[in-house]
Amino acid sequence: MWNSRRVGILGGGQLGRMLVESANRLNIQVNILDAENAPAKQISAHDGHVEGSFKEPDAVRQLAKTCDVVTAEIEHVDTYALEEIASEVRVEPSWQAIRIIQNKFNQKEHLSKYGIPMAEHRELVKNTPEELAAVADQLGYPLMLKSKTMAYDGRGNYRVNSKEDIPAALEALKDRPLYAEKWAYFKMELAVMVVKTKDDVLSYPTVETVQEDSICKLVYAPARNVPEAINQKAQELARQAVAAFDGKGVFGVEMFLLEDDSLILCEIASRIHNSGHYTIEGCPLSQFDTHIRAILDLPIPPKSLELRQPSIMLNIIGGATPDSHLKAAEHALSIPNASIHLYSKGAAKPGRKMGHITVTAPTMHEAETMIQPLIDVVDDIRA
Ligand code: ATP
Ligand code: MG
Ligand code: MG
Repeated sequence: MWNSRRVGILGGGQLGRMLVESANRLNIQVNILDAENAPAKQISAHDGHVEGSFKEPDAVRQLAKTCDVVTAEIEHVDTYALEEIASEVRVEPSWQAIRIIQNKFNQKEHLSKYGIPMAEHRELVKNTPEELAAVADQLGYPLMLKSKTMAYDGRGNYRVNSKEDIPAALEALKDRPLYAEKWAYFKMELAVMVVKTKDDVLSYPTVETVQEDSICKLVYAPARNVPEAINQKAQELARQAVAAFDGKGVFGVEMFLLEDDSLILCEIASRIHNSGHYTIEGCPLSQFDTHIRAILDLPIPPKSLELRQPSIMLNIIGGATPDSHLKAAEHALSIPNASIHLYSKGAAKPGRKMGHITVTAPTMHEAETMIQPLIDVVDDIRA
């Protein structure tokens, strides 16, 4: 039967939970490897789940025994365990792709070979003030000092404005493997979700992302005031970048649109991505639907990746108190065409993604008008 294969997911946070929502509608069983009561497990009642961490090889081996295809909702997984299980179960995308992508410096080195434009960057090997000063002489100020690994939501980045910032930057990051990146003077941040199937590389429309304190706050689909030629160029760049990796599934590609309208790549995620949540309401098939289909070799009509209506996605981030994020969701209950997603992650911490709201409307202007009161609430509850 086409839907009888079982999918295993490393990680059961909100991304895993939304994958389960998709799989449930096709009656496809998803086995989650994560702690008991993780958000994805809460909406999936069967005894195929595994308790443990996606960083423990034994737990990954145990998950492999329960399913036909293994995938991951996060790139910071044990790829050596994935390499080992790949002889007995399919791993999508490939462990090689995840291993390269989870190290942002290796990811850039790999993409360079495929001619993908990126900000100039330099590796640090000693993490000393002298070494960073020498790198800054080449790249100029400001620059972004970045951890190669375990980076998310800007935790791992430090903006170095001048030589005076070097001690503080190294104090914050020196125990991690580092590289430095030339500052990108962008006029907009763009993202494209790409679906790699067994014989195609498909893309969703180009969206505009707005980050606050390095955390994604808003996504506008399509990107506002971006000419169709740039929309197409961004999709092409994203497809070209993802084609450089092996395996199937959805990848998130972040890009910078520079002042001269050229595009450079910021980074790739080997998984479904926050900037693709709008696809749940905005497109006939969401990024979660297409990920499940891609890894199981099920058909994906390319037209199902087109936008039905302009959409805006607003993240609900943990605020000053453990339940302040619920205020934003409560407010959204009364807004037409606002879809509320709460992730059930328990008590909120400042900066933690607790949910999101997507508004769709016939025009972007109408969507902007409808979501503005919610943006005000979200700004208000910020810690
Ligand atoms: P994510 O949560 O997307 O995985 P991350 O921690 O891996 O984030 P990046 O995506 O590298 O971090 O950077 C986070 C944000 O910092 C970017 O979206 C952008 O706003 C800013 N940024 C990153 N690199 C640069 C750069 N070279 N120049 C200017 N701004 C940058
Ligand atoms: Mg990242
Ligand atoms: Mg990023």
